[in-house]
Amino acid sequence: MAQSEEELPESQEDSIVSSEDEELKANPFIPNAKAYWCPSCKAHHDYDYSCFTSGSGGNRSTTETYSCKVCKSTMFNPAQTLPWMYGLTGFGVILLAIGLLIGLAKGEFDFKDGGPEVILILFSIFPLLIGGMMIHYMRKWLAWSSTQKKKSAEELEQEAVNAPSAAGGDSGEKTEA
Ligand SMILES: [Zn+2]
Repeated sequence: MAQSEEELPESQEDSIVSSEDEELKANPFIPNAKAYWCPSCKAHHDYDYSCFTSGSGGNRSTTETYSCKVCKSTMFNPAQTLPWMYGLTGFGVILLAIGLLIGLAKGEFDFKDGGPEVILILFSIFPLLIGGMMIHYMRKWLAWSSTQKKKSAEELEQEAVNAPSAAGGDSGEKTEA
C-alpha cells in the first residue's frame, strides 16, 4: 500500500506570501487627494492611527493623529483639509477686517483696555495661523501631485521600489551562518 500518505502539502508558506501582495498594490507615489499623505516623505505611506479623548461630559474633544510609519511625521489628508483651510482662513480674514474697520472708524486701536477692535484682531490670529499652516501643506501637496502626474507609470514604479519601506525586516541584511 501507499506509505507516503503522511506527507502533507506545505501550504503554510504560500498563504503568508499572498496576504502581503494585496497591500503592496497601491503605489504610495501616485497622488490621491483622499488618502493620507506624509509631507516629509512626500508619499502616501502607511500610517499609525492614534486617537486621544480629553475632557469630560459635553466638553469632550477627540484628537486624531495619523503618523507616518516610515518617519513618524504627522500626515494630512488634502481632501479633508481643503474645506477647513478655506473656512478658517476666511473666518480669520473676516474677523481681522471687522477689527480693522472698527479701529479705523474709531480712529484708534485701544490695546490698553482691550476694545472690540483689539479683541477681534486677537481672535483672528488663531484661525489665520491654522489656516496658513494648512495652506503651506496644501501647496506642498499640490506641487508634489502635479510633479507626480507628469511622471510615467514606470518612473512611479521605480520610485516605489527605491523608497524606504514601512514593512521593514527585508532589507537584505541577512547573516549567513
Ligand atoms: Zn513620512
